[in-house]
Amino acid sequence: MPNAGTVVISARGEQRVRGGHPWVYRADVVDVDAAGGEIVRVIGPRQRTIGSALFSDQSQIAIRMLTHGDQPADLALLRRRLEGALAFRESLALDATAYRLVHAEGDLLPSLVVDRYGDCLVVQALSQGMDRLLPAVTEMLVALLSPAGILARNDPKVRVLEGLPQTVDVLYGDIPEAVEVREGTIEYGVDLRRGQKTGLFLDQRENRDAAARYARGRLLDCFSYNGGFALRLARHCAEVEAIDVSADAVARIRDNAARNGLPHLKAREANVFDELRRLERAGARYDIVVLDPPAFAKNKASVPNALAGYKEINLRALRLLTPGGYLVTCSCSYNVSEEMFGAVLHEAAVDSRTAVTVVEKRMQGRDHPVLVGVPETYYLKCFILRKVE
Ligand code: SAH
Repeated sequence: MPNAGTVVISARGEQRVRGGHPWVYRADVVDVDAAGGEIVRVIGPRQRTIGSALFSDQSQIAIRMLTHGDQPADLALLRRRLEGALAFRESLALDATAYRLVHAEGDLLPSLVVDRYGDCLVVQALSQGMDRLLPAVTEMLVALLSPAGILARNDPKVRVLEGLPQTVDVLYGDIPEAVEVREGTIEYGVDLRRGQKTGLFLDQRENRDAAARYARGRLLDCFSYNGGFALRLARHCAEVEAIDVSADAVARIRDNAARNGLPHLKAREANVFDELRRLERAGARYDIVVLDPPAFAKNKASVPNALAGYKEINLRALRLLTPGGYLVTCSCSYNVSEEMFGAVLHEAAVDSRTAVTVVEKRMQGRDHPVLVGVPETYYLKCFILRKVE
């Protein structure tokens, strides 16, 4: 992995890197003597070497810094960073057989995701540079973890922005059609090839545990996917309703409810926006409601619409709560900051004429580390609110 080429960046780009952010955008690239996907030497406007980086000739994110100054960006560095990421997960002693081993920039391994599902690994290489390094990463993961199989879920849309194909390939060993994993005492069947993300929403594990502390009576789990929150909270609740718009998801929720012996967990296929309105008209009441929608703001332009969507579902959910009831409400749009989300929740409380307290302010699980100075790594916000009256 020699530093094949060089990229010269502007003063603004250099400032950004010196401020701790690993990305330099295309607009701050002044001169390129390198091919897409290479590890390049990054040079500032006054000819100073800033460090080494992954270079992309297609994405708006042209540079993803790997090292600063003269520190070499070679296979030894890659292996050290992988080992560091794995050692951190081990130190967390998570009570689960599925969790994130590598969280890209949050582990100083830009655009690389590695998730563990039992003895299988799922990887994603989300830039040209990381795509080139994937064979080396695969070899290192085999050496470090001896997995039964490694699957590349290289089908996210961001790969298109990099000029890379969307593919799903077995890179090593065997990947069974269905993998069984456990989070605490809850067991899931996971389809690693076709499930959303890499199969499960691993980032919510700790928020599910937190929500369980307040669970009682009647629960409504909105945007349930394969039942994550509903399954975890069901043992504390008398009645559980889980809603998802996808028929596949609802089939999985039912399957997981049976697997875990939770016959009082009922799943149905519906659009949450319509369903909340219908439940409100019908005068339904719940002691705890969970809102875990998909990212409404996929980019900056969609933020105003996203905020309107978040406000609507939170407003209606607050109305459905009994006094003393809890709302577990999430946003996984990194374009919507914690402050913006908090402001939406304030508006929803005002408009629903409810007095609401913040019981907990939470984020993605610790296996998805947030890198200070890189807001993009802090994407999942989770507030646990209590409707006082
Ligand atoms: N709460 C889940 C993860 C939710 S992911 C967990 O803990 O694992 C978001 C889910 O919302 C997806 O399953 C998607 O199918 C569903 N979804 C998206 N739009 C929806 C809508 N308008 N109504 C209902 N479900 C929706």
